Amino acid sequence: MSGFLLLLGQAIVYFVGLAYIFYKRKTIGIGVFFCVIGAIHFLETYLAAVYFIELPFGLISPGSTVMFTGKLAFFLLLYIKEDAESMRQPVYGLLVGNLLMVVLALILRLHGDPAGLPGYNSDLQFIDQIGLLMIWGTGLLFIDLIALVLIYERLGAVVTNTVPGRMFISLAIVLSFDQFFFYAGLQYVTGVPISAFYGGWIAKIGAAVFFTLMVSAYLTFVERGELRSETHTTGDIFDRLTYRHHYEKLVARVGKDPLTGLQNRGQLDAKGPAMLRVASRSGLAVSLMMIDVDHFKSINDNFGHLVGDRVLRSVAETIAAVKRDDDELFRFGGEEFVLLCPESPLDAQTLAERVRAAVERSPHPELEQSVTVSVGIASFPIDAREFAVLLKRADQALYRAKALGRNRVCDASELSALPR
Ligand code: GH3
Ligand code: MG
Ligand code: MG
Repeated sequence: MSGFLLLLGQAIVYFVGLAYIFYKRKTIGIGVFFCVIGAIHFLETYLAAVYFIELPFGLISPGSTVMFTGKLAFFLLLYIKEDAESMRQPVYGLLVGNLLMVVLALILRLHGDPAGLPGYNSDLQFIDQIGLLMIWGTGLLFIDLIALVLIYERLGAVVTNTVPGRMFISLAIVLSFDQFFFYAGLQYVTGVPISAFYGGWIAKIGAAVFFTLMVSAYLTFVERGELRSETHTTGDIFDRLTYRHHYEKLVARVGKDPLTGLQNRGQLDAKGPAMLRVASRSGLAVSLMMIDVDHFKSINDNFGHLVGDRVLRSVAETIAAVKRDDDELFRFGGEEFVLLCPESPLDAQTLAERVRAAVERSPHPELEQSVTVSVGIASFPIDAREFAVLLKRADQALYRAKALGRNRVCDASELSALPR
């Protein structure tokens, strides 16, 4: 009886402590909860290897029973209240953290035995064992947690639609799977008897009942709110949990202009000054071309904005095809593009002329006219040493090209009379 009370006492303390930190996540941040999970994860693996108690149905470890089952239950709660994105962070954190821990311990091991201390016998064999068990246990946990969410979502559509029912079934299946494989590892490392296998299994199912009830009570009385009740497709969750998520695509799109796919103004502001710094160090030049579509407003007015958009895309493609590999092309704004050309003081004019001619030549069947651009060029360091000034000089040159009749190239060096 006292063994049972010990487990119950542990489970209650574990649940109350973690539930409180979880509940407070909106004010103190979810990171606190993650750290607590990480710290207990270590204790749990340690205890799973060294601390067993004898119950009528076998040997059981409070570490595996209470803390491991509780951890799975809290991961499910995290998934239910937050989402797969929040859940995968500690999953990956535990995996990487444990690998790192073992590598660090291994380095010490390779160094040799530690200095002896009077009255204390440092036992490094233990670190070898726990290291193996850590890797094995965390690898399993990784599979467990993905399976947990998949089964939870799948059962939502098949067996039952209640949160406690789905929770218990998914916990029971995953715990059984984990018990089998974790016991195999434990057996290999510490040689525990078979009674630890079935004892632990029964105790874990019991703990699953306890945590399902507690988490359900928490969801009913403490944090009611909306539950994400919709079921997700398996592929979708798996993608989100294993980092192959559309989030990646989103990150890849950051800094890109959605219409043309070119780099946006923000990228120019970051890359421009950096390019000047590099050029300045190596004593090289950089040319900046400001390219503006002529009478673009009338294209919009006469043919509509959708045609205007297509023309913009086509102009962007034409410039991209003409530029050299090292040149960087940006959409500066509306119908204006900036081309940054490193190391090209001499042929900037030639390149700009090539861009102008290519745009003029490219066909636009939906328009009755050809599309042209005007180009203003300014070069570092002769026209300006600062990026903002370089942009301004190129803009002045562009303005001059417009004033001279459009569809032409003008260089800032031709503007010496204008104020800098
Ligand atoms: P100029 O030869 O002097 O450059 O004449 P312009 O008509 O090209 O000059 P202006 O800057 O007045 O007009 C630019 C127009 O570009 C105004 C704006 O409605 C249009 N525009 C800006 N962004 C977009 C876009 O993303 N799509 C479309 N279709 N039009 C855009
Ligand atoms: Mg313009
Ligand atoms: Mg224009």
